[in-house]
Amino acid sequence: MEKGCGAKCFKCDQAINFASDLFVCLGTYEGDRTVEEKYFHMECWRKYFDEKAREKAEVVVNKMQEIMMPIAKQMTDKLKNAIDQANDDPNAPKIINI
Ligand SMILES: [Zn+2]
Repeated sequence: MEKGCGAKCFKCDQAINFASDLFVCLGTYEGDRTVEEKYFHMECWRKYFDEKAREKAEVVVNKMQEIMMPIAKQMTDKLKNAIDQANDDPNAPKIINI
């Protein structure tokens, strides 16, 4: 691809004019060989990056929830048991069950 002739934006598929548009070139290299080059309008790159970042964040949050859920359940069960036990003990101050 000749510099200055423009390329298509990876995100919006519209032409990028290298001479007048702000653009981002994302290259994948193997040694000094270019494997792949992706071009983005500056604005499209921001959107693309935001989307990718959000996707990544969602994966992390989902993973955390997967890990946290059983722990949270255990804690809730323990708390419930503690409340039940306390309520069974006539000498203990009453705790209202929620
Ligand atoms: Zn674009």
